[in-house]
This record gives sequence, structure tokens and C-alpha cells, in this order.
Amino acid sequence: MSDLNKLGLAEARDLLRKGETTSVELTESCLSAIDAADALNAFVHKTPEIALERAKAADARIAEGDAPAMCGLPIGIKDLFCTKGVDSQAASRILEGFKPEYESTVSQNLVDAGAVMLGKLNMDEFAMGSSNETSVYGNVVSPWRRGNDDAELTPGGSSGGSASAVAADLCLAATGTDTGGSIRQPAAFTGITGIKPTYGRCSRWGVVAFASSLDQAGPMTKNVRDAAIMLEAMCSHDPKDSTSADLAVPNFEAMLTGDIKGKKIGIPKEYRMDGMPGEIEKLWSDGAEMLKAAGAEIVDISLPHTKYALPAYYVIAPAEASSNLARYDGVRYGHRATLAQGDGITEMYEKTRAEGFGPEVQRRVMIGTYVLSAGFYDAYYNRARRVRTLIKKDFEDVFAAGIDAILTPATPSAAFGLGEMTDADPVQMYLNDVFTVTVNLAGLPGIAVPAGLDKQGLPLGLQLIGRPWEEGDLLNTAYALEDAAGFVAKPAKWW
Ligand code: GLN
Repeated sequence: MSDLNKLGLAEARDLLRKGETTSVELTESCLSAIDAADALNAFVHKTPEIALERAKAADARIAEGDAPAMCGLPIGIKDLFCTKGVDSQAASRILEGFKPEYESTVSQNLVDAGAVMLGKLNMDEFAMGSSNETSVYGNVVSPWRRGNDDAELTPGGSSGGSASAVAADLCLAATGTDTGGSIRQPAAFTGITGIKPTYGRCSRWGVVAFASSLDQAGPMTKNVRDAAIMLEAMCSHDPKDSTSADLAVPNFEAMLTGDIKGKKIGIPKEYRMDGMPGEIEKLWSDGAEMLKAAGAEIVDISLPHTKYALPAYYVIAPAEASSNLARYDGVRYGHRATLAQGDGITEMYEKTRAEGFGPEVQRRVMIGTYVLSAGFYDAYYNRARRVRTLIKKDFEDVFAAGIDAILTPATPSAAFGLGEMTDADPVQMYLNDVFTVTVNLAGLPGIAVPAGLDKQGLPLGLQLIGRPWEEGDLLNTAYALEDAAGFVAKPAKWW
């Protein structure tokens, strides 16, 4: 069978169980697709030996009738996850050569579920960015292009390697992480599905920390069913992460009935931003019509503190990042600067951090230490925390009023060109997160589903935001939306 790499998780799983293909065949198909796609720069550490060894083990388990949920399915892992004995660099120079002695809980859960790791995926440095241009490995390229224009586009960020790899069929699915939108924005830019679960669903243990109160892992997949399968495999209660929830993980796939009759879907008026492109407005109202046609009730709602979300996020996330990144000191991990005669420990820290961190990471560390400094702590950090509470309360109020899910655009535009934002004010880049950061600040589950193409033929996504811990219900609403939207476009292969 050819083109096995083009399958999704559910399709491949069913073929494996029927004995119509093997994990080794699936894995080899992905490995050759990866080798032929270096132009995309998505996989930055390839692990073919590990992949084939796991694929053989998976085939043996399937033959014995002992196949766990993801048995034999080849996936990519974002470079932010620590993987035992395999480079885990968070796309930063400062972690060059770092091969952890341990496996993150999420990637271990995937191993335990039988998944086959193909390699590590490119991303923005320490997951800070929206275009994958802050990576030490160089930017990822999206497999999508605008019509016949061969200008290279961003796949979004920070999980841009994951997005490109899934959209270009280099793997069946991939892990991502999302602190302010890094699963949902790249998923929307590349026409794939990505879900950020409720804060606490996936263990953060062994995932390189960016902003600990916002970070969550999640799957990036070719469709909603695959997201349900992979999310279930990734989640668990983990005593090694004190914020991991001690809650049973439901069978998400079994909840995909497509029946959303009587569900109340909120349309928040504050997400109708000034200057929003007409195409995004139309996509959003078409999405609402689709859910209505499927039997849902559409309700206008208000989330009054939305406009403060982006500024609050860009205080809280850098504050936590500056603290988390203090551990990169040239002693414990990775890169250490070459020192001059007479240099002491202070010079060692300074030189190592100046060389090891790229400009965006340095900007975040500086903003973070500033907003946490004695004179400004109350004015910035504490105020941002209060705003965060109000944003969370906006959502609690609409859920208490009976809203089941909220529909918004996933991004304010389609993918932009690589390099297009280089000279822009960094705030221009931060605006990409305007529809997604609220969800992280409130700790809620959010999913991006591809719903249409813009006039240049680029994917556009819609976001659904769910009640806490109700990912199953959210996935089911997304499943109904996916069915109605009928998005089947794929990028034309040029790489
Ligand atoms: N683009 C956002 C940022 O740079 C979000 C990143 C993320 O979710 N990891 O902070």
C-alpha cells in the first residue's frame, strides 16, 4: 500500500487491527516522507532507529492481540518535550546537546499507548512566538502557498514544526504545546485540528517550562476523531506535576456522536475586532449557521474583559518565563560560553545567557524581570493577575448561564509570509494571539478546526471554547462543525 503517511490515526489504527498494513510499513512511509521534506525544516532531530524498533515491537503486540490505543502509529514530538536520550532543545542554543535522562510524562504516556516516535519537531525558541521564526534551527516553512505565488509562508507558531509535519503528511499526528495559542494558531494556519485541553489535564512534567500557569500539551491531528484518540492517550493524573488533575480521563472518542441538538453556542461580541478581515467575519458567521443547522442554539454573549487579555498575558507569561529560564546558567544544561582569562561566575552566566538565548527570549526575560521588580510588581504583575481573574469570571458567568461552548475565529488572519513581520513592532506579532490567550488565562479547553479557505487558497480555522474538564463535549461539538464545514483541502506538494 502506498501513501500510508497520508493516513490519519483512526484510519491507520483500523488497518493495523485488520492486518492490512504493519507499523513498520507505516513508519517507513513516514520516514521517507520526512527525508523528502527537508525543505520544510519541520523535523529537526530524526530518530529512525527508535521509530523502527518501536514499530517492530508494536507489530508484535498487535499480532498477540494486545494493541493499546495508539499501537504502531507514527507521530512527531515537539522539541519542547524531554525525550530520554534524544536531543530536547526547545529550539534554543542554550540547550544545545542536551539529551535528557528522563522522558516527559506525556511522551511516556504515548510510548505506553504504543505510539512510534519519528523524531523531534521544530518550534519557536522556548515556545515564544507565533511564526516559528525564533527557532535556533531556522524557521519552519508551511507546506501551503498562496495560489501560484511561491513566497514561503509561516506555519504559525510556536508548534509550527508539528503543524507543517501533520499538514504535509510527514507523520500521522504530532504533539504540541499551547501557552497562549501555540497549538490552535498553527493548526488554523495549516488546515489541521489542534486542541489545548483544560489546564491540568496533561502533565507538564518533563515539558520545558515557558509559563507554568498557562502551559498545556495537546495533540495536533488531521481530524477531530484523531484528536480525541491522541488526547486520551496523552492525559493522565501525574503526582510529579502538582497542578495535574486527579480526574478520570474519559473515552473521548466514544463521545463523538455528532449530536449537538439543544447545545447552546455563545458568540462573544467582544471578539468582533475593529478591522477584522471580511473573510474571517464570514467564516465565523458561516460556522454559527452550520452549528445552528446541526440543531444547536446560537446565543449572543458578552465577555467584557476580553480587551485586557492580550496585555495581561504579555505581563504574566514573560514574568513566569523570566523565572523559569533562570535555571539556564551554563552549569546545569547545554551550552556554556567560552570564558576569558579572569572571568568569574558572573561573567560565565552573563556570557552564556547572552549567547544562548535569542532576541525574543531575551526580550521576554527583560519584560518579565521588569514587571516582577520591587517597584513595578503591583502596577504590572499583580494588576495583570487581577485582570486574569476577571477574564476567568467572564467565562464562568456565561457557562453558569447555560452556554455549552463558545465559537470564535481561531486567528485574526490567514498565514502570513516568512519575514513579513521582521521589521514590525513585536506587538504586531503578539496580536496573532488575540483570540486564543483568553482561553489559557482562564485555563479552559479550546480547539481549532479548519473551516474554510481564504481567497488566496489558504486555510482558515474556527475556535470552540468549552467548559472546564468537558473536552469530550467540546470534541463532539467540533466533530459536528468539522462534518458541516467539510474541509478537505490539502497543500499542493512543491517540496
Ligand atoms: N504566541 C504566544 C507567545 O509568543 C503563544 C506561544 C505559546 O502558546 N507557546 O507567547
